[in-house]
Amino acid sequence: AREAARLDARTGASGEMYKRASAHLAGGVASSYQLRDPWPIYISRGSGPKVWDVDGNEMWDFHNGFGSMVQGHAHPAIGAAIAERYPMGTHFGCPTEDDVFVADELARRFGLPKWRYTNSGSEATMDAIRIARALTGRDTVMKIFGSYHGHHDTVMVSIGVEYDKIGDRENLASLAYGAGIPQSVVDMTVAVPFNDAGAMERRIERLAAEGRKPACVIMEAAMMNLGVVLPEPGYLEAVREITRKHGIVLIFDEVKTGLAIAAGGATEKFGVTPDMVTMAKVLGGGLPSGAIGGTEEVMSVVEDGSVYQVGTYNGNPLSMVAARASLEQVLTPEAYAHLGHLNDRIVSGCQDVVDRYELPGYALGIGSKGCVTFSTTKVVDYESFKENQDADLANLAWLFNLNRGIFMTPGREEEWTLSVTHTDEAIDAYVAVFEELASELTK
Ligand code: PLP
Repeated sequence: AREAARLDARTGASGEMYKRASAHLAGGVASSYQLRDPWPIYISRGSGPKVWDVDGNEMWDFHNGFGSMVQGHAHPAIGAAIAERYPMGTHFGCPTEDDVFVADELARRFGLPKWRYTNSGSEATMDAIRIARALTGRDTVMKIFGSYHGHHDTVMVSIGVEYDKIGDRENLASLAYGAGIPQSVVDMTVAVPFNDAGAMERRIERLAAEGRKPACVIMEAAMMNLGVVLPEPGYLEAVREITRKHGIVLIFDEVKTGLAIAAGGATEKFGVTPDMVTMAKVLGGGLPSGAIGGTEEVMSVVEDGSVYQVGTYNGNPLSMVAARASLEQVLTPEAYAHLGHLNDRIVSGCQDVVDRYELPGYALGIGSKGCVTFSTTKVVDYESFKENQDADLANLAWLFNLNRGIFMTPGREEEWTLSVTHTDEAIDAYVAVFEELASELTK
């Protein structure tokens, strides 16, 4: 209550803006994920590793636009590329040379030969699933229980942190996430637990026996919406083998991990190449963008015209010039080395605090991303996340951070994202506030 009162006092202008916004902007926000209690924080500008809200509060940004701004805010190289492009026109509905450059670079980084663009991560996963359905002639989609893949109906199933119990692990229910999703669509999506290749294979076999073999398995190689949950050794290799054996298209949803945890995303980091990857977020350097990469075989259904992978703004020249500048000039090998250094520092700083104050939890990082998970045991899947997590503590940590100039993603689902413009000073500020929290909690 004290932290909430403090936030009210600090963010009065956001409160006023919220009142004004609520007249004609539904719920006062542009996306339901922007809603917060008591009100959303309205941001006025960002530069490098910092953002300023409409109250003038200056904050170190670890939210980074839900993990999109690994380049940092207003990066001069991206700004210059956009400024050069703008006077030459920003939209033609025709391909440009930057589309070609970006596809070449993504093919090199991810080891998948054929690419297409979208405007968001949701469009990328929607199109990838359609491609998998076209290739296999099947309707059923398999996903991981608790994983988020965007807001289209097929994947708005068995996600989020809504469910008290996971139920029978071998036979998890398909549950709609929010209203307005047809039950017939929900029923076509089947969820299995993360880090359990045996459960996946047994479910596939039961579905096959019913004549409902999945077209694809769509998954994050490392789950990024339960904090960060890494794959256990051998898990991804087993999934690769099972999907290959059953002729199921394996899609790594790299909307969060792609370009964020390594130059070639989770695909490079874990050394397992799927049939398709989906990307968005970091790709556009702060402009809307998305991409789908696939093998020759998978993408043949796009190339032969049987699947319409379309969109008026696909490959928008401003987004693509920002993506090109990002890939060419910002997300370099040196940048990933810098991110690795910073992440090691923040993880060890936080872990040291956890140990010294004997908090129930652990710090974990990969590439530019990481978190402190407040849990008494290691989280390996949705079930262990749900059972062991202290939700109140995670929410308090968010408020506490905000009140002390650390802008974090809200709630316990998200993680920090570092940018190439973060410095040791930013990391030390984060760890110092975390220590203050630990000290308050253990008083
Ligand atoms: N896939 C994953 C793993 C995501 O985390 C998200 C968004 O957070 C999406 C897909 C959807 O991306 P977008 O919000 O750009 O539609």
